[in-house]
Amino acid sequence: MRVVLVSTYELGRQPFGLSSAAAWLRARGHEVTCADLAVGLVPAKAIREADSIAFHLPMHTATRMALPVLDRVRELNPAARLVAFGLYAPLNEQYLRQLGVHHLIGGEFETALVEAVEGRDAGPLIQLDRQPFTVPDRSFLPGLDRYAHLHIHGERRTVGYTEASRGCKHLCRHCPVVPVYNGVFRVVPAEIVLEDIRRQVRAGAQHITFGDPDFLNGPGHALRIVEALHRENPELTYDATIKVEHLLKHREFLPVLARTGCLFITTAVESTEDLVLQKLEKGHSRAGFLAARNLLREAGLHLNPTFVPFTPWTTREGYCDMLQVLLETGLASSVAPIQLALRLLIPAHSLVLELPEVQPLLDGFDPAGLLHRWHHPDPAIDELARRVFDLVATRQKAADPPHEIFRQIWQLVHGAAPPENFDLLPRAAVPYLDEPWYC
Ligand code: SF4
Repeated sequence: MRVVLVSTYELGRQPFGLSSAAAWLRARGHEVTCADLAVGLVPAKAIREADSIAFHLPMHTATRMALPVLDRVRELNPAARLVAFGLYAPLNEQYLRQLGVHHLIGGEFETALVEAVEGRDAGPLIQLDRQPFTVPDRSFLPGLDRYAHLHIHGERRTVGYTEASRGCKHLCRHCPVVPVYNGVFRVVPAEIVLEDIRRQVRAGAQHITFGDPDFLNGPGHALRIVEALHRENPELTYDATIKVEHLLKHREFLPVLARTGCLFITTAVESTEDLVLQKLEKGHSRAGFLAARNLLREAGLHLNPTFVPFTPWTTREGYCDMLQVLLETGLASSVAPIQLALRLLIPAHSLVLELPEVQPLLDGFDPAGLLHRWHHPDPAIDELARRVFDLVATRQKAADPPHEIFRQIWQLVHGAAPPENFDLLPRAAVPYLDEPWYC
């Protein structure tokens, strides 16, 4: 069978979903074309000749970008079997079916994807069966130099990407992982992860991003991998995503991460308001975030906090407080400016919809936007969100550095410049990946 695997956007990373799917399908003898539309064009000839075309939909932005491509693909090849796989496939089942997608697969997708491509029933919408993993096949994807790079002390490093686990054992209310994995996570065997890293190092990777929803869901597994990675490649650095709760609970592991080459930890702080954190069931408090930040600093690790600053519970005082905390903790330059402008995303099936106070704020489901529109009870907060977003969009386009955009947001909100006794570190002082959008 001829199969085209399509990715539209994966945060500037070489798409793991395509490489894993390609390995499985090639092992079954299928002829696979990988199309990463983030760095290339729709492969019209391969699409016309394909028996199956499968879209990897791991996130909201990727799914939205896939919608017009689906139309184009149907025009080019109306007879092809269309498949959507990844986290956002089951969340948008109804709309994707209307667009002509035949098979939808969420969760542990590899076995079901093979079934769908070979014309059999792919099984239930959400698959959580353990997969007999195989090493991802990246041979037909664009080179790592086409993707996001790490910037550190004026140096630009090539970045590889892998996943040591999928799903998550937590149930944060706003998280898109939860409606699919519902508190379950699955580990990728250490030997598979390490071989995937070895191959990327041979292809030029100097730094690895672990894209697990939470790297310390299985701490023993994670530590085995980073110890082995460091033994084999002492110069290789890496980053990972770990929730505040795990940073506190597994604090003894933080020096191990630093020793084995970890440069920074991304953590979804979301808010510095305890009420918002409780509503989102984040499992941490404002005080916990500050404690975690201190632990990371003591361990010599940078913190890359992410936020959802505009929620139905956000107050103007709370937003100002978040900016103040970022200044006082020296984190203002570590935050990608777009993080200070994001509104809560409420996709279909979001557990946020269970909160009774959210219901009167809903303005209907937007099928093309793939989200529930909502308004804040105080229109002034929506206006603030709009102004901050416009500012960030404009200043990013003008290539202003993050510390300068932070200064401008502060000015917008307070009508005055930040206090002079706080330093806004220039971005070069903090390691970061040059892909500004997180969604
Ligand atoms: S810890 Fe992270 S990945 Fe897990 S449910 Fe919460 S937000 Fe989602």
